Amino acid sequence: MDEKRKQFQALVSEAAACVRCSAMCGRTAVLSDLNGPIDARVMFIGEAPGRKGADRTRIPFSGDQSGRNFERFLTSINLQRSEIFITSAALCNPRKATGANRRPTASELRNCSDFLRRTLALVDPAVIVTLGMVALEALKSLQYHELNLRKDAGKIRLWNGRLLVPLYHPSPQVLITSRDERAQLRDYKVVARAMRRIGNPP
Ligand code: SF4
Repeated sequence: MDEKRKQFQALVSEAAACVRCSAMCGRTAVLSDLNGPIDARVMFIGEAPGRKGADRTRIPFSGDQSGRNFERFLTSINLQRSEIFITSAALCNPRKATGANRRPTASELRNCSDFLRRTLALVDPAVIVTLGMVALEALKSLQYHELNLRKDAGKIRLWNGRLLVPLYHPSPQVLITSRDERAQLRDYKVVARAMRRIGNPP
């Protein structure tokens, strides 16, 4: 096993055993080979696994409507899952007492930021794509930025020596309230442009 794979397996084991967030103790972190190849040039970062999605399937953005939207957007630029690594700002699924998904709290995001930092350092992608405000904000704790989803969505920015494309989250609610299908399809073309810029077109 090469060194990078060994380090990734150690990170996966550490995340699987992690109990830093008391409300997440019954959950398992979504981090494994199913997140994508560790030598991917492009990394997508979401908010947290969804109850009906990655928390169930163990595959980020799969099994729920957000996942189906995400796959449609990837297909629109001919980008395969086998070309990308996907992770999230919080690795476990945050739930309300009712069982519904909720946003990860600030302290849960702080707790998990070390996993994000180490995953990013290990995969070392040339392009980062954040999906939603929480993911974009989570990068601030690794290296400060002043990017703002409304202003910077669908644009190529520089962050931490990499190209960063902030996108809206592919959830059905966001498609209705903040960024519709047509606008999101336009945003994904910018991801393809960023990939061409690093000499790795989808
Ligand atoms: S969300 Fe992250 S820090 Fe919190 S318990 Fe899960 S793996 Fe640990």
